[in-house]
Amino acid sequence: MLSCSYYDGDDYDFWFVAEDELRPCPFCGNQPTQFIGSGANHGLVRCVTPLCPAGYMDWAPPKKWNTRPIEDALCAQISALEETLMIACQLSPGPE
Ligand SMILES: [Zn+2]
Repeated sequence: MLSCSYYDGDDYDFWFVAEDELRPCPFCGNQPTQFIGSGANHGLVRCVTPLCPAGYMDWAPPKKWNTRPIEDALCAQISALEETLMIACQLSPGPE
């Protein structure tokens, strides 16, 4: 039985989004599954890949599933470092 403490309305399509709007699972990289059914849990998201650690998490609203502040901050930091590295490589005299 599904349970969710996020639901706060009567619109059963409240959670549902297009599949391409969902980010891949942060643990295994597979696309998550959206719960299809009647009731307040319609559209909630979870990874159902066997043995994936995220499979033990509760079903979540798509917005919560897609919200990853640490991952986003790390990706921004990596991009900035890659840019700095490219500049450093261009300024380097290279092998003699
Ligand atoms: Zn997963």
